[in-house]
Amino acid sequence: MSLTLHIDLGAVAENYRALAARHRAPVAGVIKADGYGLGAVEVAPVLRAAGAEQFFVATPSEGVAVRGAIPGADLFILGGLWPAKLADYRAHNLIPVLNSFIDLTNWMREASRSGLRLPAAIHIDTGMRRLGLDQRTLDTLAADPEPFRLLDVRYVMTHLASADEPDSPQNEEQAESFERACARLPPTPRSFANSSGIFLGTRFRSDLARPGAALYGVNPIPGRLNPMRNTVRLLGRVLQLREVAAGEGVGYNASWRAARPARVATVACGYADGYLRSLSNRGFAAFDGRRLPLIGRVSMDLLTFDASEASRLREGDALELIGPAVPPDELARLAGTNAYEILTSLSRRADRSYFAP
Ligand SMILES: *Cc1c(COP(=O)(O)O)cnc(C)c1O
Repeated sequence: MSLTLHIDLGAVAENYRALAARHRAPVAGVIKADGYGLGAVEVAPVLRAAGAEQFFVATPSEGVAVRGAIPGADLFILGGLWPAKLADYRAHNLIPVLNSFIDLTNWMREASRSGLRLPAAIHIDTGMRRLGLDQRTLDTLAADPEPFRLLDVRYVMTHLASADEPDSPQNEEQAESFERACARLPPTPRSFANSSGIFLGTRFRSDLARPGAALYGVNPIPGRLNPMRNTVRLLGRVLQLREVAAGEGVGYNASWRAARPARVATVACGYADGYLRSLSNRGFAAFDGRRLPLIGRVSMDLLTFDASEASRLREGDALELIGPAVPPDELARLAGTNAYEILTSLSRRADRSYFAP
């Protein structure tokens, strides 16, 4: 196996328990984007065993894909109610997060048609301005809270835009705006914090936090020591080692040239495996306690590293490409992105091995 992704489900479970202890109130599992790249079907039952009873995905097809792994659990669709997929919501017991007047209307119509008080969550926009009821729709709902009678509204929720910046005034503004909105609606459990929000303090506590990233080891408090455990380790095998002379170029367009004689390790991983091409000449790998700089362009299937300092490295050995010694947060900084993108980019080409809790 030339490229292997080790996924530590025990660490995911531990992260869940740490977040639940910190929140001191119920905590859901956000498993959209295939569990942030780790595999939603594998991750969901582990979170459930650790205590999660509510799950969130982005789309109905993600919901259908994971439903069998968590039968009976509450499974919310953040993207709202997609009319073309209405049958899937009903057949797989997917709970829409109603984001708009149209969502509310369509789900109430389905409730009347079926004679059932269908479950739902209602999302209020408090400043993210992507999804959720706008002020006018909130006014309408406050004046006539019929959806709360016709539907089984499990949560009123909102989403923080700047939770990873604890000093941003937007956090308090959103807390106030959410408080005001909830006060105008029939009493309903609330859902507020994402991963970083759990670390913002008691004002951001609610009846259900919705962490995703931190479950998978992403640092929820950037700039401070990561309190979460690393969950993934991507190991790439060295296919070839070669000596290059001073002045010789490596890779497409010879974007790296040896300043002095060097030893180059070519590894079986590339951008088709989700290793970001923007890490060209910026990334690094780890071997034997050392960091090996990524040199040259990231190719589709191959990476090249300067292994001059790693004298014990042999062909066939594995380099750590992502993991405890190559944290996703640090790679993300070098790539000009966030750790979410590093994880969700991981493709299915790598062989996966899961370590049970
Ligand atoms: C993705 C998402 C979350 C989880 O956010 P993290 O930053 O990964 O913890 C929570 N709520 C909503 C609405 C989301 O879209």
